[in-house]
Amino acid sequence: MASVSTTTPGTDWEYAPAPESREIVTIQPEYNLFTGGEFVPPASGEFFTTLNPASEEPLARVAQAGEADVDRAVAAARQAFETSWGRLPGRERAKYLYRIARAIQERAREFAVLESLDNGKPIKESRDVDVPLAAAHFFYHAGWADKLGYAGFGPDPRPIGVAGQVIPWNFPLLMAAWKLAPALATGNTCVLKPAETTPLTALLLAEVIAEAGLPPGTVNIITGDGSTGAALVGHPGVNKVAFTGSTEVGKQIQQAVAGTGKRLTLELGGKAANVVFDDAPIDQAVEGIVNGIFFNQGHVCCAGSRLLLQESVADAVLDRLKRRLATLRLGDPLDKNTDIGAINSRQQLDKIEGLVAAGEAEGAQRWSPPCRLPAKGYWFPPTVFSGVSQSHKIAREEIFGPVLSVLTFRTPEEAVAKANNTPYGLSAGIWTEKGSRILWMAGKLRAGVVWANTYNRFDPASPFGGYQESGFGREGGRAGLAAYLDA
Ligand code: NDP
Repeated sequence: MASVSTTTPGTDWEYAPAPESREIVTIQPEYNLFTGGEFVPPASGEFFTTLNPASEEPLARVAQAGEADVDRAVAAARQAFETSWGRLPGRERAKYLYRIARAIQERAREFAVLESLDNGKPIKESRDVDVPLAAAHFFYHAGWADKLGYAGFGPDPRPIGVAGQVIPWNFPLLMAAWKLAPALATGNTCVLKPAETTPLTALLLAEVIAEAGLPPGTVNIITGDGSTGAALVGHPGVNKVAFTGSTEVGKQIQQAVAGTGKRLTLELGGKAANVVFDDAPIDQAVEGIVNGIFFNQGHVCCAGSRLLLQESVADAVLDRLKRRLATLRLGDPLDKNTDIGAINSRQQLDKIEGLVAAGEAEGAQRWSPPCRLPAKGYWFPPTVFSGVSQSHKIAREEIFGPVLSVLTFRTPEEAVAKANNTPYGLSAGIWTEKGSRILWMAGKLRAGVVWANTYNRFDPASPFGGYQESGFGREGGRAGLAAYLDA
């Protein structure tokens, strides 16, 4: 499949194809569940198929874990907590985490290609963002494992026990690392359920974990659909639930966990404002806007999906933004020049199309650069809506696709009021050359993460999490350790 430039005809630069080879990856026809340190067939005997969303090619059949499998995985995790991993001193746990981190680095190309095949994201993102950050997460938490007594949680903070962890499809390996690394560093054992459409890198990570020699049952990876996730979070043997995904499912999980004594952290949706003032460096801001909403096809919970432009520069910024979007290349995720890959699933594409139709019906102006979409697979062109008002559905609901809603403001107070006019509160961006204005804005924005003159920057040392319907609890940094300690 060739990458297709969105460039206007006549100004097109012809790029030669630059495909990353998929030879490095061996995809097995069928994957079992990783429980008790080995791959075991599901009790039900049921499997489902995971696809390449860029071509709709079936990649593998993957085990569907049922209640008996969840039981077995939780029992294995309990045993490891009580007899092996839970008894290791921090300095020993650290060795295993360093080993996993190094193995991810050694097999980085393999992880990156597999991630792009199963998820549809461009190889330059899986190679330069997802995989290095996943390794960094294990390195960072390995460093904490023997220093927990100095982290401000008392001299001897204890782990919670068995963690049940459910993750989404937008950053499959990275989310697995965000969940596993802090849980293991603090001495917990884990049962992780990856998303149904993107299980393959978590299963490759299971292989790495087995090779790293962690005591059997320390990490269990069980694949399946939402019913597997529900069985895991509802299992009485789980002491701590960690979930990343939609607000709707987050609410169901909160209800399921209420009154059980289980600890819970939820990292849910977002509808972040990316605010550009008239004194911002416009070219830099345009790059930040593009990175904010078109990175990972907009399948990002903290995406800058609402662009707030100060009225005096709105036309100039929009103009430059459109010119920049015309240079983005959409197509084969394995091509190293591709900027925009495939939408992860038919279901997600339907959701994006539905919300975009609502935006048009409500009167916002839709614009996309000229763009030919590949015939097979799930694709959506980069899209900008101007003339958006706060009551429009596209200004309120998480689209989770490459769709930007543009609003305007006149004063900083109005920018704050509009930015905070959302049930979410995960992230925000500020573009201005005035440091004082950045500090003033950051203090007023109700968002867990505020970026200034940059966007979508992640670091394992920096806590990440939300307010309101974006969930609660933090991942990363010292704050992230607290979620896995009985402190
Ligand atoms: P979900 O919240 O449904 O999925 C996230 C994870 O939870 C998946 O592993 C899923 O399994 C699992 N799951 C589903 N139902 C339950 C349940 N009742 N109990 C426990 N676990 C469950 O997100 P979707 O993939 O369906 O995406 C829907 C929308 O959610 C997107 O359009 C987007 O707006 C938003 N979203 C937000 C994310 C974020 O990071 N904030 C991430 C992903 C989606 P399975 O894969 O089988 O469904």
